[in-house]
Amino acid sequence: MSATNTMATFRYKTFGYAAQSVGARLTPFSFERRALRPNDVAMEILYCGVCHSDLHWARNDWGWSAYPVVPGHEIIGRVIEVGSEVTRFKADDHVAVGCMVDSCQHCDQCRKGEEQLCREGNTLTYGSPDRITQEMTQGGYSKHVVVRQEFVLRVPEGLDLARAAPLLCAGITTYSPLRTWGVGPGSRVGVIGLGGLGHMAVKLASGLGAHVTVMSRTPDKEADALALGADRLLVSTDPDAMAQAANSFDLIIDTVPTKHDINPYMPLLDVDGTLVIVGQLGNLSEPSTVPLMLGRRRVAGSPIGGIAQTQELLDFCARQNILPECETIRMDQINEAFERMERADVRYRFVIDMASLTA
Ligand SMILES: [Zn+2]
Ligand SMILES: [Zn+2]
Repeated sequence: MSATNTMATFRYKTFGYAAQSVGARLTPFSFERRALRPNDVAMEILYCGVCHSDLHWARNDWGWSAYPVVPGHEIIGRVIEVGSEVTRFKADDHVAVGCMVDSCQHCDQCRKGEEQLCREGNTLTYGSPDRITQEMTQGGYSKHVVVRQEFVLRVPEGLDLARAAPLLCAGITTYSPLRTWGVGPGSRVGVIGLGGLGHMAVKLASGLGAHVTVMSRTPDKEADALALGADRLLVSTDPDAMAQAANSFDLIIDTVPTKHDINPYMPLLDVDGTLVIVGQLGNLSEPSTVPLMLGRRRVAGSPIGGIAQTQELLDFCARQNILPECETIRMDQINEAFERMERADVRYRFVIDMASLTA
């Protein structure tokens, strides 16, 4: 943003990468951010993680994308300017923005700090109408962003800026169910799928003191699972191993990003155990009620977490030195990164170094 943009009436000129239509590759795109409101924080984006949702949104996989599309909701930045009423941040602070940038702020869920469950619907970082101007929000594959201070996170001292970005979506999406279901020392946690979300679930559950099992269709991910902090790998296609694991989990986090059958996993839960789904999959294969009733077991879903819990996660990761495994890319490598992500050819998250994005 130019240094002359100091008056609140000026909109911020910025640039990034956008998809202009369904099926289009992401290409350079100049656009504007809103003028600073009194409670807004303007930041230069330093890093942005690449999430599966970015790809789905860019390609209109959910059917409601509004073009042009600038994806990106795992944002690490540096404050460059604050509005007149901003008290929590000042220039040069290291800050972060996740999947949402606004909510009603007055419903029961918002007052509890569960803005992700806002009764009026939260405003997503990209692809949502701004609550005041109705302009579509645009994401973090760009040089700058303007966000109200209530949705800006503080990056704690000591957290590696270049690797922290995926905590803002993959991290909080897996941390929130761990906290909702009270995971701590001695908890028995299973993780299905070892991608961007799964690898964070392993690190975070392990960091909370749980006994962690990765469930995979083949044994070839065992070394990776153990290296990430898991205690063992359970091969889900091995009937004997699955039978032996019956009733042995308190919580299973299912991170598989495509339609699949959850029935083989349900008997693995102990009484009152929960299988929580954190991917947006649409329909699942038909679940059987038998293991649900016999073990009083539950299937649940969980979105991201609230702002307070996201801050708790960042602080927890700084204290415990838990960081996502990242491959850093340049902005102009994003289309290739999308293709590799579709082939699950990434360990475990791409992060764009925004220093590589120039006008
Ligand atoms: Zn995401
Ligand atoms: Zn609300």
